[in-house]
Amino acid sequence: MATGKIGVTTENIFPVIKKFLYSDHEIFLRELVSNAVDATQKLKTLASFGEFKGELGDDMRVRVTIDKEKGTLTVSDHGIGMDAEDIEKYINQIAFSGAEEFLKKYKDVANGIIGHFGLGFYSAFMVSKKVEIRSLSYKEGAKPVLWSCDGSPEYTMEETEKAERGTDVILYLDDDSKEFLEQSRVDALLKKYCRFLPVPVVSGKEQEWKDGKMVDTDRDNVINATEPLWTKKPADLTDADYLKFYHELMPGMEDPMFWIHLNVDYPFTLTGILYFPKIKNNLDVRKDRIQLYCNQVYVTDQVEGVVPEFMTLMQGVIDSPDIPLNVSRSYLQADSQVKKISTYIAKKVAEKLASMFKDDRKSYEQKWDDIKVFIEYGMLADPKFCDQAMKFVLLKDVEGNYYTLEEYKKLTEAEQTDKDGNIIWLYATDEQSQYSYIQAAKDRGYSVLLMDGQLDAHFIGLLEQKLEKTRLVRVDSDIIDRLIVKTDKKESGLTPAQTDMLTTIFRSQLPELKGAEFIVQFEALGENAAPATVTQNEFMRRMKDMSAMQPGMNFYGDLPDSYALVVNTDQAAVKKITELATGSLQDRVAPLRSEIEVGNNEMTAARKELTDKKDASDDDKKALQERIDAAEKRVSAARAEEEKLEKDYAATQPQVRQVIDLALLGAGLLTGESLNAFIRRSVQLL
Ligand code: ADP
Repeated sequence: MATGKIGVTTENIFPVIKKFLYSDHEIFLRELVSNAVDATQKLKTLASFGEFKGELGDDMRVRVTIDKEKGTLTVSDHGIGMDAEDIEKYINQIAFSGAEEFLKKYKDVANGIIGHFGLGFYSAFMVSKKVEIRSLSYKEGAKPVLWSCDGSPEYTMEETEKAERGTDVILYLDDDSKEFLEQSRVDALLKKYCRFLPVPVVSGKEQEWKDGKMVDTDRDNVINATEPLWTKKPADLTDADYLKFYHELMPGMEDPMFWIHLNVDYPFTLTGILYFPKIKNNLDVRKDRIQLYCNQVYVTDQVEGVVPEFMTLMQGVIDSPDIPLNVSRSYLQADSQVKKISTYIAKKVAEKLASMFKDDRKSYEQKWDDIKVFIEYGMLADPKFCDQAMKFVLLKDVEGNYYTLEEYKKLTEAEQTDKDGNIIWLYATDEQSQYSYIQAAKDRGYSVLLMDGQLDAHFIGLLEQKLEKTRLVRVDSDIIDRLIVKTDKKESGLTPAQTDMLTTIFRSQLPELKGAEFIVQFEALGENAAPATVTQNEFMRRMKDMSAMQPGMNFYGDLPDSYALVVNTDQAAVKKITELATGSLQDRVAPLRSEIEVGNNEMTAARKELTDKKDASDDDKKALQERIDAAEKRVSAARAEEEKLEKDYAATQPQVRQVIDLALLGAGLLTGESLNAFIRRSVQLL
């Protein structure tokens, strides 16, 4: 019997391993089973090259066996096996030096990285007080060996009896790891990590229903599918195959909308299938829907970095031996190989979407509402994807027609170009509440897009950046004539005095709306247009919309909504209001106006004198200042009186309030008490 010290300097490394790996200690099973699978495949490879001339035997399966009495868990294979020399080389020296290196490197790093590093065989010590390897190498004349180690750096190695070629790794489980003697626990772990390993893995017996309970049969329970779908050629697969695999992978989900089979050999190796679930408007980004495999061994479902962020909306599997797994996540994201993989996946997804669009536009349109948020997210997040998506991103109008950007440009170019040569795209965010504005635009022959998606506020900004001379304007952000300004503005036809007077009259009748601020404007918009319209400032609204989505932009969020009441001076009712007001107020207002004018002139003159006469005595300056103050008082007194006259007058004119309320009604701003008052007034006016 040989004894020795494992080639490691750290005196007691096992407690360290245990402590380090505690959070993820279940991975030992993955490590041991994949070693067994590797050993099996190596022997098959040797046999196929004629290097191994013996019999492979009937049973090349890997077995996981529980012995509750002995408290052991054994992983057995009939692979290449190891002789004493191999164990010395692979277990005593190399494997362990790898572990030591690892521990040196990551001593200070948090637990998060553990589990992806392939500490391999030694992870067995996370759950065991003693580990034995019994192995018979495939080599001719090899002697079976028994290696044993109790968790200190000392091991023993001796010759043993073993008839069958291959390796048994026997774990004498720690008292606090007895859970791994439960068949259900072991099966669950194997299902998680070994579900798609390329060699059958047997654990326990198949069960069946008998006499009212589940009992073991004598058939071995194989837990894995050795040829998962992604390893097959797409040409050999049907839609039904893909759907079946999807439901195995993601139980309880609706059918996906489509999928992409990834397959690349160069400059890295990667296979996989990504499914596209129905996401509608629900931007629920979950990072555990794509499983990462390395040669069919499950590694993780945390794929940040490997897959572009926006693609974590997809589900499925990716298998690549080229993703470095023994490193921390931040390293993973910086790794150039991983970046290439991520870029490749994004490109493939874009290509798939492009071909779906090209091959079957109709069915692509049917899917659009479900994939829109994904594509917009991708375009916002990834400039390369954005460039590709410009060809297949669709716009939907309020009638439910879909257009590409190019098509929509052609459609709107003629009618919706303003006097400065900008194409104006109108959009609505809510068909119901913006109904009257949409209607007004349609009556003009304009098209209105529906932008009611979760990301549309951002997407609109992106479109404006990407498209030349194109602006998007919400349909209620201005009166129709000013949404797309084709000729220079028509004057209101009011004198400045009339404008002042009417501004006060209308302003005084505007109801107080919480969190809203109004300006009043007058414009000649034609006899047939509405008497007044309420519009919402596009810039302020966008800022507020954005701030609602991004915490920290409260500045805009806290500002009131800013609206304009645009009064149409061409409209009959407004004309009448103007005439009546002019008629009954003019005579009384005129003297006040001249008072204001006189006062203003006096003020200007006195101010000029004060600046001209810099060298005047203090007394002179004082006298001038008093003149200014007196003039100011005259002016503001006259102003106040004028305003009072106009306000009092306005209060006697229910038509003014009626015109305002009609506009508020159209904007969905007339509610509650104001709405009630409007209805009562309407009846009276009738
Ligand atoms: P890794 O698998 O990453 O190389 P391990 O510590 O898991 O690291 O294993 C070290 C080496 O020991 C393997 O590369 C292999 O040569 C050998 N080995 C481990 N398990 C087995 C086995 N069941 N059969 C044959 N060789 C094995």
